[in-house]
This record gives sequence, C-alpha cells and structure tokens, in this order.
Amino acid sequence: MSRSAVWHPFTQHATEPVPPVIARTEGAYVETADGKRILDAISSWWVITHGHRHPKIIEAIRNATETLDQVIFAGLTHEPAEQLATALIDMAPAGLDWVFYSDSGSTSVEVALKMALGFHRNNGDARSRIVVMEHSYHGDTIGTMSVGARGVFNAAYDPLLFEVDTIPFPAPGREQETLDRFEAMTRDDKAAALIVEPLVLGAGGMLMYPAWVLSELKRIAEKSGTLLIADEVMTGWGRTGTIFACEQAGISPDILCTSKGLTGGSVPLAATLATDAVFRAHFSQDRAKTFFHSSSYTANPIACAAALANVEIWRDEPVAERVAALSRMQSEKVARFANDARFENVRTAGTIAALDLRVGTAGYLAEVGPKLRAFFLERGLLVRPLGNVIYVLPPYCVTSGELDRLYDAVDEAAELAGGAG
Ligand code: PLP
Repeated sequence: MSRSAVWHPFTQHATEPVPPVIARTEGAYVETADGKRILDAISSWWVITHGHRHPKIIEAIRNATETLDQVIFAGLTHEPAEQLATALIDMAPAGLDWVFYSDSGSTSVEVALKMALGFHRNNGDARSRIVVMEHSYHGDTIGTMSVGARGVFNAAYDPLLFEVDTIPFPAPGREQETLDRFEAMTRDDKAAALIVEPLVLGAGGMLMYPAWVLSELKRIAEKSGTLLIADEVMTGWGRTGTIFACEQAGISPDILCTSKGLTGGSVPLAATLATDAVFRAHFSQDRAKTFFHSSSYTANPIACAAALANVEIWRDEPVAERVAALSRMQSEKVARFANDARFENVRTAGTIAALDLRVGTAGYLAEVGPKLRAFFLERGLLVRPLGNVIYVLPPYCVTSGELDRLYDAVDEAAELAGGAG
C-alpha cells in the first residue's frame, strides 16, 4: 500500500504504530487483511451490542436500500423514521414523547443542549447555565467539549469553550457533597439543565456511581425547574444491565440522548428524545420558536431500518437474558483481581467491567495506555485502556472462554505495567 492519507481519530501519528487493516468483522471479532482474528473487547468504541454484522441488521440494511436512500427530512418523512420513533418511545423511560434524529452521539448531545436552552427561552425564562458532572465526556465538538471534562485533549480549543458549572463526581462517601453542590447551583434560577452520563462515566475512566444519586439529582432538578439531560450514548441498549441506565434509578429525564448501540453498532444514527413539555415550548405560531437544527443526513432511512432491526432483535431474541448472563460473568471473572495489590477500584456495572492498574503515572495520555494497547493487540485482543484504567466492554455474544483468555492477558499485562510508571 502506498502512504496512507488517512488522519485517524485520537491518534498521535508521530508515535503510534501503523494500524492493522481490518478486512472483515463477525460476531465478537474483527479480522485483519492477513487473516488475524482479534477479539473486540471494547465493542469498537462501545457501539457493537449483539456482535458484528448481526444477520437481521444486515438483512434490514440490504432491504432498505432496495427502496430508499437519503431523503430530506424537513418537509418530508418516511416509514422507517416513523416506526422507529414509535418503538423508541415505547422502550425509553416513560414521559419521553418526541424523537429528534441526528447522526452521532455528539450531535445528539448538541441537540439536547439546544433544546434545553430553547425550552427556557421560548418560555420567557432567561436560564442559560449548564451544570455538568466532573470527569464527564459528551463528545468532541465545541459544544460537547464545553460540557465535558477539560484536559490535554481539548486544551488547544479552550478559548472557544463556554463556561459551565461543575458538580463533583459522586465518589463513594462524597455523594451528599455532589447533591448539596447541585442544590446550591440551582438556587439562583440560572441553571437551564444538568447533563449527566447515567451510572457510568465512560471516557472519563469508567467511573461508576449508584442509581440513588441519579434519582436525587433528578429530584433536585425537577424541584428547581432545571432540565435533566441523560446522555445514554454509551450506557444505552443494555450496557449497564437495563435497556437504559435511567431505568435503574426509576427516573425519566426531560431529554435523553442515544446513539452507539441504537443500530447495534452497524451504521451511524443518533436520536434525542424529549418530553412533550420540551416539544411544546417549540410549538408556536411564532417562527422564532422553531427548533432550528438539522444535519443533511437527519433520519437516514437505511440507518433507521438498521435501528428498527435492532429493536426487533431486542423484542424477539433473549437479549435481556444475554445481558444478564454477561453481567454475571463479568462480575465473577473480574473478582479474581479484587484483592490483587497490582489493581485497585475493581468494578462492574452490568456488562461493563473496569479496574485501575497501580502505576506511577496515570492519566489519559500516560505512557502506559499505548503500551498496553500494543501488548493486547499482539495477543489478538482489542483493548484500549483509558490511561491506567483497563476496561472490558464486549459485545453480548462474547463467550466465557473468550473472557477468560482476555482476563489472563490482563493478569499478564499487570507485570508489564508494573515497570511502566
Ligand atoms: N456521549 C457519551 C457518553 C459518549 O461516550 C460518547 C462517545 O464515546 C459521545 C457522547 C460522543 O459520541 P460520538 O463519538 O458518536 O460523537
């Protein structure tokens, strides 16, 4: 192959190895052009739920292309989008009645932020502050970086990021502090919305907090007229054990963002679900109250058909049982490291397991991450630690034997990392 012209995401081309070429994907595996099978233990950035190329999703995509391709979604509609919206409302927490489509997790969050501000403005309320949780990640656009944690990865863009109010992460023993700080921030009636990743903060280090904290955050938000935005881009579609993580807190947010597993990971699609109150604030004879947002590929019919197939898989196959079985396996298998001095914070939330390697230097861009990535890849395992945080977030078709192989490699990797700090 001649020199590649591809600029890869989150990749330091000066120091990172040339990436292997993937020619085929199937089930829990991606396969290189020269036939090496690699276990996808991170579901290809958390998108693959049922496994790569689930036959029903592939068939739905194929069928959709027989009759439709992109159709402008302002002034026109189509069956896949209509059916999917109804299905999403059925599956989401009660009270979310409207579905706005976009095409990535980041855009679903941008849409949510704009809806929240539009809601208050159209109701004659000047609230415009966004409250965020420490260590959060909501995407890499200017808006989503603004509501996410600041660090080396967005320092260059800092002059463009807008100011937010930050509540501390509700670490064990500090939950009340988080709630008190949020309560205090809502007192001046300036908080338009609180945006959170429900139960698990993904890119921030797979940090987990209990469902009751989320219920309390919702209670405080509701009391103060602050909207709650649940960013379920990563946690949705079974990752934390239930279809949406909010279910475990028994709450319905005002706005919910979903992407990644929405199409089972096959093609890009995102949706922002909103309550009738949020929609009504934009429903007016006054054109200025219109929700002014679109992307060219809004509600792509092929992507909607893939998402409908995903919904059917959830309805027709024992996916909930698979998720429960994987959640049990993850807890049992990661338990072997619970009293291992080389690790700390061994934790699970549903199908997600994470553990922190004790090394001298931590952080997202610490040396240890790339070293570990290479170590796992040599062993046919796709693992992408967040600094010293090793996490396992596999497709639901992964087997017990495959997880054993993976955790044996984690055990071995601890020796390597011991010298890396
Ligand atoms: N929100 C959360 C919680 C995420 O984990 C991510 C991606 O990892 C995003 C938003 C951004 O999604 P995307 O990469 O599809 O833009």
